[in-house]
Amino acid sequence: MSKILLIEDEKSMVQALQDAFEFHGFTTLVAKDGEEGIKFAQNDSPDIVLLDIMLPSIDGFEVCRRLRNAGFAAPILMLTARSEEIDRVVGLEIGADDYILKPFSTRELIARVKAHLRRYSQPENSAITEANFGNISIDFIGSVVKRDECTIDLTSTELTILKLMIEHKNQVVSREKILNYVWGYEVYPESRTVDTHILNLRQKLESNPQKPQHIITVHGQGYKFVS
Ligand code: CA
Repeated sequence: MSKILLIEDEKSMVQALQDAFEFHGFTTLVAKDGEEGIKFAQNDSPDIVLLDIMLPSIDGFEVCRRLRNAGFAAPILMLTARSEEIDRVVGLEIGADDYILKPFSTRELIARVKAHLRRYSQPENSAITEANFGNISIDFIGSVVKRDECTIDLTSTELTILKLMIEHKNQVVSREKILNYVWGYEVYPESRTVDTHILNLRQKLESNPQKPQHIITVHGQGYKFVS
């Protein structure tokens, strides 16, 4: 049974989310503000976090940033009420895995949450358990990424995308393929979500993110990993 942490201050929204997730077999944990959310995330090890952006005192962006800085690795999905906030979700390196625009359909929300959980808790069976390129080493089993001896924090989504690309080394991987692999066929986030995760991966892994040596753009087709 998966445990979901809901960080949301709006009572009616909390009730609706709680009902929906519990109906689908989740255990729910509710935090009514950011501080409480951080505390629960760190003490109660939820499998996934649904994080509202508009919260009293510290907002969802800050909660996400603080959790990632503290090494919290489970998927974080942001809830956003206004479309302009999406630019901040996908445009900033806050470490969120996905965003859900309010109002949302419960069916789509549950599908997306499940897709992230599937990727996070049961990485695809594959021969690849580790990878080395440049000064980067990756242990996919322990989800540890290092540059020389320094640990680099990748989100579960970033790690999943990277693994997919490494499994298809020297081949073009289309945005559509990445979307399907990470989010599943049931849901369709915008393809620029992929681009943002790729940008973040370059920032974290490439010596010069402006001139990537490993995660290459193939114009009009997608991305390619080369070592
Ligand atoms: Ca709110």
